[in-house]
Amino acid sequence: MQHDPLTMFTYMDLSGQVRGKGFPTSQIAKRLKTGIGWTPTNLMFTALGTIGASVWGAHGDVMFMADPETGVEVDYADGTPAERFYLCDVHNTDGTPWDCCPRSLLRAAAAELLAETGLVLKATFEHEFIYSGANSRTGDNYALDAIRRHGAFGETYLGALKTAGVEVDTYLAEFAAGQFEVTVPPLDAMKACNTAVIVRELARATAFRLGHGVSFSPRVTPDGLGSGVHIHFSLWDQNGQPVSHDPSQPFGISTVAGQFLSGIVQHMPALCAFTAPTPVSYLRLVSHSWTGVWSNVGLRDREAGLRICPTFGTDPEVVARQFNFEYRAADATANPYLQLAVILRAGLAGIRAGLAAPQPTSEEDPETMTPEARAARHIMRLPTSADAALAALQADPVVQGFLPPRLLQAYIANKQAEFALSRDWTPAEICRRYAEVY
Ligand code: GLU
Ligand code: MG
Repeated sequence: MQHDPLTMFTYMDLSGQVRGKGFPTSQIAKRLKTGIGWTPTNLMFTALGTIGASVWGAHGDVMFMADPETGVEVDYADGTPAERFYLCDVHNTDGTPWDCCPRSLLRAAAAELLAETGLVLKATFEHEFIYSGANSRTGDNYALDAIRRHGAFGETYLGALKTAGVEVDTYLAEFAAGQFEVTVPPLDAMKACNTAVIVRELARATAFRLGHGVSFSPRVTPDGLGSGVHIHFSLWDQNGQPVSHDPSQPFGISTVAGQFLSGIVQHMPALCAFTAPTPVSYLRLVSHSWTGVWSNVGLRDREAGLRICPTFGTDPEVVARQFNFEYRAADATANPYLQLAVILRAGLAGIRAGLAAPQPTSEEDPETMTPEARAARHIMRLPTSADAALAALQADPVVQGFLPPRLLQAYIANKQAEFALSRDWTPAEICRRYAEVY
């Protein structure tokens, strides 16, 4: 049989799913200019396969315009069709950005940060996931044998990422049975999010070729450990110099980074509606599970909402370039462009307001601090359910203002429709259903 190569133009939607339309690859030059049509109401697809209340109904048209830099072509050379896809902006038919386009939201947020402060945010998304072909044995956390026993997956995955132009920093067997982790170096905000999407899709693509699957769902079982997405970030000037670090300040946090962090801390409960956006997110975000359930900035603490990450070595220039923070109340049921856009805008709000630097915890556990001690440091318990996160968003007009009104309305309607479906599910059922989706 003859094969006609297929290319997909895609976007990541509000539910963190990559969707789109394809065409014969021979049309690529034309399609990069003209795009491909898309239906506004498709934005209302929920994670669970239903459609939330749509303001567009059956009306209207938008366009997927591919970002040529995001083209992925990975041929696994096993007789299966190659992976061939692009990530797209969504435009109105007159070529202007659609007010509900996730990538345009992030681009606008990054442009605002640059215009107002002269600063650039660099970020990287650290992903954990479960591989169904892991062949785990008890106690193989971080084990060499866990890498051996998961067979061809790791190297095939790294090969696919390399072919797609994604540089990998580390790859390892994580703590839970069948759990692995992949990290990539920091990039500017847009590229970091593109990379996060490609990292997830090529993990799925690789597992599929090997007759298996991966799940990035934050919890695949109610017990045990979850899979997080840790969002690392730092601030840089336009000359490529790091500006988050200042050794003369407490904890090495520069004035501007302190303002940025305090902005995030102040709005973190509402940010959770975007960073940990599904019912299964809250089966992971439980106390003392190495996630981050408080809005604290913690020195090298893997249970802080915002961790001050370690630096290695003593050369001040190297330390300044390594210095970064990690937002831990995040997972892969979210859209990375939305996650980073709201984190960035919260940080920018902190800079605008000239907020005082946070008072980081070092040895203390927010859980055992008195309510007064927590309040003195603005440490809040993050939401304990998806409904509570959405309520926090609806109670925070500043965070609501981070999105164009119609996108905010669409997002809330989408999430409400999704949450209504799972309200009667047991934790086991929630895990099972979301493991399949993510
Ligand atoms: N698996 C943990 C999480 O759900 C993180 C473990 C780690 O610190 O890498 O976020
Ligand atoms: Mg990890």
